[in-house]
Amino acid sequence: MRRKLVRFIQTTLVLAAVLFGYSVVTDSAFDRWKSQFRDIAVAQGVRAKTVDIALRGLLPDNKVLELDARQPEFTKTVWEYLETAASEERVATGRARLRVYAPLLERLHQQYGVQPEYLLAIWGMESDFGRNTGGRSIVRSLATLAYAGMEDRRDFWRQQLLAALRILDKGDISMVYLRGSWAGAIGHTQFIPTTFEQFAVDYDGDGKRDLVNSVPDALASTANYLAQSGWESGKPWGEEVRLPSHFDWGKADPDFWLPADVWALENCMMRADGQMLESNDAGFVFLPAGYRGPAFLAYRNFKVILKYNNAQSYALAIGHLGDRIRGEATLVATWPHDEKPLSNAQKAELQQLLTSAGYSTDGVDGKLGPNSRAALRRWQMDSGFPADGYATLEHLEFLRREVKVNTTVPPSSRTPAPQGERG
Ligand code: CA
Repeated sequence: MRRKLVRFIQTTLVLAAVLFGYSVVTDSAFDRWKSQFRDIAVAQGVRAKTVDIALRGLLPDNKVLELDARQPEFTKTVWEYLETAASEERVATGRARLRVYAPLLERLHQQYGVQPEYLLAIWGMESDFGRNTGGRSIVRSLATLAYAGMEDRRDFWRQQLLAALRILDKGDISMVYLRGSWAGAIGHTQFIPTTFEQFAVDYDGDGKRDLVNSVPDALASTANYLAQSGWESGKPWGEEVRLPSHFDWGKADPDFWLPADVWALENCMMRADGQMLESNDAGFVFLPAGYRGPAFLAYRNFKVILKYNNAQSYALAIGHLGDRIRGEATLVATWPHDEKPLSNAQKAELQQLLTSAGYSTDGVDGKLGPNSRAALRRWQMDSGFPADGYATLEHLEFLRREVKVNTTVPPSSRTPAPQGERG
């Protein structure tokens, strides 16, 4: 009996060690770092007891460092991304959740002004409706990154770790449940700790802002984030549109906004299904895959979703998934499936060639941000291509022939931003 008990205790301890990243093995450099960090945290007002419990026996998580250093050569095309993001399975789950959580979602709609389907879309995208919130210890991941992550990001991770400790200190979530992605995103809506501190709300009234165990808290926090970012109540994020063949592609620019009725009257724009535009508000023409793919008139709420995650494909996925959950059909236009995505090296080469041709991209980093798109657009206009600012292999090949440069392309440099198209 006693032997059984001892074995049980041993097993439990080993399990706990595996689960929480504790170990009897020590790492002296990390221990020194932890000791310095402890002083900083305590000086900033976190209770010493909280810091000690959180950091005691903690070892770095090498897997987190591997994930941090990874740099995929290709990013997915927007249609590949949407296939997963707004899959039929996810739409069906979203519709089922819309029924199950109808009373809660309606209350949140009344209070925060955000339509239920977009809260569900974010929930679905961030954690597959709570089924994939990430199982890593937030404290261990963030401590690892703050200690040994990419150097230019360590201060960011340190701030996140301090915020995570403050969350523990307040008792919103306990150490056992404070788990999430390798990059420190917590719970159903994957808030990083500083976002948690700023936007999380206690909606079920238990006194704790628990984004891991409480669906009401998680959905209300998302609604609060969108509302505080300027969400326009009841308004669409955008609508799929049909453009005339003579459309001036140069007008498809995130900085070129016109009222919907001006787009309709002066630019012959209508909904892709042939109906009149739903909105009267100002918007810009968004071509996620260039002039050959679907076109959208994107409104203010599209920009609000970008504040949640600054990637256009993410905002499109949230908007479209939400529309599908509400009951709308799939997109009308087809994607240019024959086009291959440019690798990061090819994007850098394109930037180099454009710059050499006199169309400065304001740097060569292998990421086609607003400056690169603007340069490409000017070059397209001068070279007789539809000026949609969307880079293709055809452009690259054309530029290679056109520009005689003997400069080598520097390796793409790492951008500090973890997500989005900030370049
Ligand atoms: Ca709560």
